[in-house]
Amino acid sequence: MQSSLYYTDELQAFRRTIGKEKFEPIPIYATEEAWNEISKRFGYLEGSILDKRTIYPGISISDLPKEMRTKGIEIIPFKTYHGRTARGSVGFIIMAEKKKIIYTSDLWDTVRDYRIYEPDKPNLLIMGANWFKEPEVQPANPHMSFERALKFTEEWNPTKTYLIHMSHEEGLTHEEWIDHVKERAEGYFKRDIDANVSYDGEVISL
Ligand SMILES: [Zn+2]
Repeated sequence: MQSSLYYTDELQAFRRTIGKEKFEPIPIYATEEAWNEISKRFGYLEGSILDKRTIYPGISISDLPKEMRTKGIEIIPFKTYHGRTARGSVGFIIMAEKKKIIYTSDLWDTVRDYRIYEPDKPNLLIMGANWFKEPEVQPANPHMSFERALKFTEEWNPTKTYLIHMSHEEGLTHEEWIDHVKERAEGYFKRDIDANVSYDGEVISL
């Protein structure tokens, strides 16, 4: 949970819609630092709407829902940075059915956590890439650029990368983003990178 926090109140409407009797508090996994921010604004939702779970970067989440545990899914958070409004933000290393998925969420920067690419390289990287043309353009808001996202992709070496969170501020259409990604991803780095521009509702098979 990061900068999209402001929609948390909508969960009250969701509970009303499905009926109080049927509703169970939703497990929410966040770091202590993030909970400090969340509790300041939405402490009144804890217990009734939010089932508060605390997670720690580098430590496998021990209280995942039963359905995930029985499938042998393992999730390890890693530290990300996303400015003052999203303190305690993390990305996730997800291991499921011998596949490794890295999900950064919305971020400005992250740590070089070796678990991301060792012992096995990721099968899939889902990475925030909010804006375009670094270093010529430097927006004030703390978000990952497309150029830096590809640097991480080169270092972490996933089989496939899907870029998310492209900004409308660039004024680029989905097709233009695809063109730019292709242009950069092929021949720009030491090896070609399989980078894709995601779209709403996309389903990815591994
Ligand atoms: Zn953001």
